[in-house]
Amino acid sequence: MPSFSARIINWQRKHGRHDLPWQGADAYRVWLSEIMLQQTQVATVIPYYERFIARFPDVATLAQASEDNVLAHWSGLGYYARARNLHRAARAVMEHRNGEFPRDYDAIHSLPGIGRSTAAAICALAYNARHAILDGNVKRVLARYLSVQGYPGEKKIEDLLWQRAESLLPAHDIATYTQGLMDLGATICTRNNPQCANCPLHEDCAARRQGLTAKLPSARPKKKLPEKHCIFLLLMSGRDLLLEKRPNNGIWGGLWCPPQLESSFDIKEYCRQLLGINAARITTLPAFTHTFTHFKLHIAPKRVNLKSHLRPPLKPGVIWLDVSEAKDAAIPSPLRKLLKKL
Ligand code: SF4
Repeated sequence: MPSFSARIINWQRKHGRHDLPWQGADAYRVWLSEIMLQQTQVATVIPYYERFIARFPDVATLAQASEDNVLAHWSGLGYYARARNLHRAARAVMEHRNGEFPRDYDAIHSLPGIGRSTAAAICALAYNARHAILDGNVKRVLARYLSVQGYPGEKKIEDLLWQRAESLLPAHDIATYTQGLMDLGATICTRNNPQCANCPLHEDCAARRQGLTAKLPSARPKKKLPEKHCIFLLLMSGRDLLLEKRPNNGIWGGLWCPPQLESSFDIKEYCRQLLGINAARITTLPAFTHTFTHFKLHIAPKRVNLKSHLRPPLKPGVIWLDVSEAKDAAIPSPLRKLLKKL
């Protein structure tokens, strides 16, 4: 039987994906696609990728842009630290590397937001350099093929999968092999109902032979997500909405949001004391829940309409924005959904 890597390479050539917009592109585009694809499906990424590349076609344009503009083009894709790191890394490339995206694995890995697997994927796909990747799809393929028990997010299991990923690397055709592993995980060895009959690893896949495909990779040990509650204070003046820039660290870092208050806050008191305005009438809008990876946030939106001459004076990091413009600004997706209802 041909080796593991030979089967992956042959399968990629015949059945893999060949029309993704970043395939065969330069390292900048491969890097961007790899960052966007973290925690996000290809179909969701493609329109974001195309809009982003149209606006920021190269590393120099990205470095020159304001963070707000970068976040606005990321808005809706989630995990905003990815966009802030991308922007920081572009500036580092301009400042320390004369605008040349590095070719060397260690130099790529040292850039903000580029972890071990992402650095390896950039090296493999953009430069055909011999490095092993281990993203979520590859973890699933290897955990099944080798019947590795245990949650792959656990350090011990992850280390074992890294060792295996490295030992399976072919000597040549790294770009095709890497793309093949990604394609196989995305299209054949899927989380649910893998198509084992169409898989090049079918014959010696341990999970398939043991009837364990539905059980591997082992699920994350169950932990109930903590729940938090807050108020979104929608201060409206005509069609304008008051937004505050969130601090860079923490949820929705760097994005524009309405003031977020603890649910125990007295809104009238808050408006009077901190904004110097009288919130005569408060409208309660339907509450909703947003789930982050580490907690659930129950959001109760409250709307207060102000007369324009009663607007509080603006402080740094606070703006009034027309609701229709706000929809295109760097705001989190739950707020975008809420604005559609205003
Ligand atoms: S045979 Fe099935 S479980 Fe094994 S790698 Fe292929 S698709 Fe995945």
